Amino acid sequence: MNPDWELTGFSDCLTAKSTNMHCDVIIIGGGQSGLAVAYFLKKAEVHFLILDANETPGGAWTHTWDSLKLFSPKEYSSLPGWMMPKTMDTYPTKEEIISYLSEYEKRYEFKVRRSTKVENVTFSDNVFHIQTSKGEFSSRALISATGNWSHPYIPDYPGIESFKGDQIHSAHYLNPEKFREKKVMVVGGGNSAAQILAEVSKVTKTIWVTKEPPEYLPDHVDGRYLFELATKKYQAMLKGETLKEAHDLAKIVMVDSVKDARERGVLTAYEPFQEIRGQTILWKDRQENVDSIIWCTGFRNDLSHLSSLNVINSAGKIDVANSRSIAKPALWLLGYGDWTGFAAATLIGIQRWAKLAAKEVCEFIE
Ligand code: FAD
Repeated sequence: MNPDWELTGFSDCLTAKSTNMHCDVIIIGGGQSGLAVAYFLKKAEVHFLILDANETPGGAWTHTWDSLKLFSPKEYSSLPGWMMPKTMDTYPTKEEIISYLSEYEKRYEFKVRRSTKVENVTFSDNVFHIQTSKGEFSSRALISATGNWSHPYIPDYPGIESFKGDQIHSAHYLNPEKFREKKVMVVGGGNSAAQILAEVSKVTKTIWVTKEPPEYLPDHVDGRYLFELATKKYQAMLKGETLKEAHDLAKIVMVDSVKDARERGVLTAYEPFQEIRGQTILWKDRQENVDSIIWCTGFRNDLSHLSSLNVINSAGKIDVANSRSIAKPALWLLGYGDWTGFAAATLIGIQRWAKLAAKEVCEFIE
């Protein structure tokens, strides 16, 4: 071990007498994906540190809307090693998931350096140099698990800049209060759009716009199905086979609020409009005036901190084998959605990819 280094209290990382901190492994992002891989690295007694921009635990869940519930029960929404404690009803609430993730971090005594935003990462002499808002860190292996919440995506509709009403992305929606007495257009055809439309339509007039006619999973299919399918797909992948999915998981999960919206007849979607003019939305054969727009149009992966590594492809992703960068084998990407592993952007789905990544990291730093 390098004599100039001394062990500090900081999560077994070695720190040089100078200002920067060096670890075998650094995990950027302490949300569910970062915590899952931390569990397996801790089990393997690897020296690691988690850097997270948030002041508090919980990852993206700390930013979601008040009424958001998981679409899978706790048995299918737990991280490795510790089942989520009993929840008030079948589907855990936002508060229950945040408290679970906070307790999980404490239970395994993960050292998370909070309010530490990674700004840029370079690589030289087989070491990652990680510039952050709180000084420089370095590591031999790097796991990026920054999610996509900080990169909401709004399509560039003609006239969008002329809209006179208020408009927010689902990432910033908290509850329907500010939309009372307004006419609200919800744009998007996924779970966020359906759940937010269900909620806002209870307090005011809404119109719903989707790119394609919305499709729904059968009432009895929820996140459990996703887990079972993820397991079958993973097993098929190990055998070099591909599995035809019985249900397309991009469809909307019929959680209670969406079922209630269906009974109230608000799940009627319009096709995409052509232009926004002031507060008028124009289709080829009709128009509507609205006061607010809620864009439920998804996210883009938050990889800007890795741009100096020149590994981001034209699709804004990174070419990986499972979750390991092909171009930079000392780099792993976790939790960004199916391109980093089927169902990797879910609590239950991340486990197998986190376990595989931790195994590869251990072999790499040996
Ligand atoms: P995040 O939770 O986004 O965590 C990323 C962490 O990285 C954050 O703490 C952030 O502070 C940190 N970070 C980001 N950039 C930097 C940086 N540059 N430097 C330092 N730190 C940084 N999943 C389920 O499992 N079950 C569900 O039922 C479910 N329902 C959902 C419903 C909706 C409507 C939505 C939108 C998502 C749902 N999800 C569900 C998915 C889940 O919320 C996310 O996929 C999950 O939060 C991703 O976890 P993560 O740890 O990868 O990313």
